[in-house]
Amino acid sequence: MKNFELPPLPFAQDALAPHISAQTLAFHYGKHHQAYVDNLNKLRVGTPFEEAGLEEIIRKAEGGLYNNAAQVWNHTFYWNCLSPQGGGQPTGALAEAIDRAFGSFEQFKTQFSAAAAGLFGSGWVWLVRDNKNGLAILPTPNAGNPIRDNKEPLLVIDVWEHAYYLDYQNKRADYISHFFDLLDWKAVESRF
Ligand code: MN
Repeated sequence: MKNFELPPLPFAQDALAPHISAQTLAFHYGKHHQAYVDNLNKLRVGTPFEEAGLEEIIRKAEGGLYNNAAQVWNHTFYWNCLSPQGGGQPTGALAEAIDRAFGSFEQFKTQFSAAAAGLFGSGWVWLVRDNKNGLAILPTPNAGNPIRDNKEPLLVIDVWEHAYYLDYQNKRADYISHFFDLLDWKAVESRF
């Protein structure tokens, strides 16, 4: 049984400032994400998932094992949605799909921001590709992960308080606005 490991951050810990500070990343990546990895490695011992990959655990496990596996996956995916060179707007086929689904990029941004601001408590808000309906905005509470419902994640924002409290305190809307300044549309386009 090989342990899951915390993947390296795809940027320096201070590279997202001033939008997300090095201090936030020190806790969010170094403490929270690491704790989910450690808990996952402990909780799968003695379960049918000792040799399972992360996505299989997310699809099939329940309770704490599911929660920690999903949180590991969600955080790795979140880091890979962010870049010091992010911001701007999508282009090409993704931009066209966003226009078809939401009317315009601005309307997508407004709806996505409202979903992120409106999610009660802790959770994630995703842009997903749904096989039947094209693109959709999907809020998931707590450790929710779209893979479990056969939806394909394209981008995500973490709206747990630990993602923004050191930088923005109670002002989640300010964090959401700054998230768009870091959003790596090239990475999102490559998934699409
Ligand atoms: Mn988080």
